[in-house]
Amino acid sequence: MLDFLGDLKRTHRCGDLRAADAGTDVVLMGWVHRRRDHGQVIFIDLRDRAGLAQIVFNRDSAPQAHAKAEELRTEFVAAIEGKVIRREKPNADLPTGEVEVLATRLHLLNTAKTPPFVVEDDTTAAEETRLRYRYLDLRRPREHRNLKLRHQVILEIRKTLDALGFYEIETPMLTRSTPEGARDYLVPSRIYPGQFYALPQSPQIFKQILMIGGLDRYFQIVRCFRDEDLRADRQPEFTQLDLEMSFVRPDDVFDVIERAMQAAFAVIGVKIARPFRHMLYKDAIRRYGSDKPDLRFGMELSDFTTHFEPARATFGFEGSIFGLVAPGAAAWSRKQLDEMTERGKAAGARGVYTVKVTAEGNSSPLEKTLGAEGVKKLVEAAGAKPGDMIVAASAREQIKGTEAAALVAGQLRLFLADKLSLVPKDRWELLWLTGFPLFEWSETDKQWVSAQHPFTGIVEEDLDKLESAPWEVRSKGYDLVLNGTELGSGSVRIHRQDIQARLFRALGLTDEQAKQRFGFFLEALSYGTPPHGGIALGLDRVVMLLAGEKSLREVIAFPKTAKAQDLMAESPSSVPPEQLDDLGIVLKPRE
Ligand code: ASP
Repeated sequence: MLDFLGDLKRTHRCGDLRAADAGTDVVLMGWVHRRRDHGQVIFIDLRDRAGLAQIVFNRDSAPQAHAKAEELRTEFVAAIEGKVIRREKPNADLPTGEVEVLATRLHLLNTAKTPPFVVEDDTTAAEETRLRYRYLDLRRPREHRNLKLRHQVILEIRKTLDALGFYEIETPMLTRSTPEGARDYLVPSRIYPGQFYALPQSPQIFKQILMIGGLDRYFQIVRCFRDEDLRADRQPEFTQLDLEMSFVRPDDVFDVIERAMQAAFAVIGVKIARPFRHMLYKDAIRRYGSDKPDLRFGMELSDFTTHFEPARATFGFEGSIFGLVAPGAAAWSRKQLDEMTERGKAAGARGVYTVKVTAEGNSSPLEKTLGAEGVKKLVEAAGAKPGDMIVAASAREQIKGTEAAALVAGQLRLFLADKLSLVPKDRWELLWLTGFPLFEWSETDKQWVSAQHPFTGIVEEDLDKLESAPWEVRSKGYDLVLNGTELGSGSVRIHRQDIQARLFRALGLTDEQAKQRFGFFLEALSYGTPPHGGIALGLDRVVMLLAGEKSLREVIAFPKTAKAQDLMAESPSSVPPEQLDDLGIVLKPRE
């Protein structure tokens, strides 16, 4: 028999009870986490958002409640009236472990079907099952912790930005395509058959227009949508901390973000130092083989090309050779070396070369091509010591303007750091990367495309090269990197209509095409646009790292799977034919 809540009022949360509450009459409400029936006494652990409390039903002191407690099963919803008493045997593992509640009355508020998995942090349930029954999964303390952290981080960021004079302003969800390098999610218009809204990949154009509108400082915690190819840790909809400021240089944006990040880290009790480090993109590539270098450990790369020159014909490499010294890896087995080579090949290596340095001397397959003397010189140049191993790589192909071998060596650096346990825990390395090229070459389009988006500002001295040497043009863009993960990017923008129009031309758009796609924006730019700049950070990613989680799905209440599906709501889904009719849509059979 189920009870109604009536005028019963909860007095405490289960997980909040402490020794100081002993003697208090309480009303608790929550879910039955566990039930232990000892005949005369029944124990239940009652669970709510705050944690667990132990409830005792005694047949002698409360026979009715005891009889009812026999009906309780896991995940039933109950309200308990009783008195907090000290436990005879405290449980040090539970925050409420010093007390228990001696029940006088039990109200059964709801029953539950037998859950497909136990609501516990270390559940062994498959992720598919967890996501299908997300409401049960969400009951786990870990999800509560993560969503609470997310709430607190957002709150602290909001407070910080408010104090710095930012307004939080919403921008439309039904809009038109904004180029951020992904496909749009389209929404068909019923009123204008054949026409579509696009869900925003970012509020980029709108936030710039807010600056043209004189709002001066804008931010938004905003959902963005990108229909990208499936990848394990990518969500089709995700949340950004998006902001834009007028009359600024990059440092002004850095300062704001550094304060916001400081506030976010304070939530987990970590004090991060300001200002963050800075690095030029080209140095990041040459020193770490990455545009998002992980600075929690060393193993910087070196350019070994000159040492390998005598082997160029034998090894058949074209560009350069980059490598590093892996401390303590001289004892690596054949199997470990093979695994490393595999990883290098997957990252685009033509060859992966090693020298093991021991007290007895060097040992390396390179001796055949470089000679013992050549290997010795390499060891000296690299500064390798007995016990170390030199690892170097050439790349399968040279890509214009980038150090392909450095990128391969950068992947090996990450592999080695992991295998050699060189990545310290609880270290936070934040870094601003600047000096990015404005363009990158697209093999598919056979032309230069924007490396970021086409509103990114251009370093003034490089403007002349826009048409003649686009690969040399540097942007006013920057990235924020944390422990080898890109948190987001931004830039000081193009604020002049003439330069924006020139850039569209450099991207191969005719004036007609530019007008068709961005006409309203070009028009807006010509009405007194202030210099402005901004940034967007992936908020899900920030929270994931702060929570120490490895998957974005752990910090999003209702995430999509790696296959872009919502298993609980079963979306995407087909729609009734009438709905398609309304929209004037006829589905083509898929070949
Ligand atoms: N709109 C950019 C992005 O979403 C960020 C920015 O340039 O502010 O990546």
